[in-house]
Amino acid sequence: MRDELYQQTILEHNRNPRNFKKLEGATHVAEGYNPLCGDHLWVYVKVDPKGIIEEAAFEGSGCAISKASASMMTVSIKGKSVEEANILFEEFHQLVKGDLKPDTQPNHLDKLTVFSGIWQYPARVKCASLGWHTMHGALEKTKTVSTE
Ligand code: ZN
Repeated sequence: MRDELYQQTILEHNRNPRNFKKLEGATHVAEGYNPLCGDHLWVYVKVDPKGIIEEAAFEGSGCAISKASASMMTVSIKGKSVEEANILFEEFHQLVKGDLKPDTQPNHLDKLTVFSGIWQYPARVKCASLGWHTMHGALEKTKTVSTE
């Protein structure tokens, strides 16, 4: 069941990526690159003075998984505090490595759990994490993020 949901979600977000644009007025920007697959994207985050993520966006090119994952990432962190976004980043990272079992371990991943089976495909893990690593890099003021 979950595999089916995973495929549907990836296809849908790849066809219609959310927040796929350059964000004017972004306070944090980073460029992410996954040389293994050729995924290359920019992540933009706009943080308000209270530390809340007002907007998040991304652009670039990559495979369906990297694009869908980045699209879901922008939706997931919007309206969250920087601290909450970093917690989500940690949880997502553990999920795709297979270290977090969403059915039995407490987490905030919600719809992002569709990626729970991806640890079986190590090359794809980098595609799924790229947007998240780049977002995290942007918040940490790291300009360029590479999965290698
Ligand atoms: Zn990829």
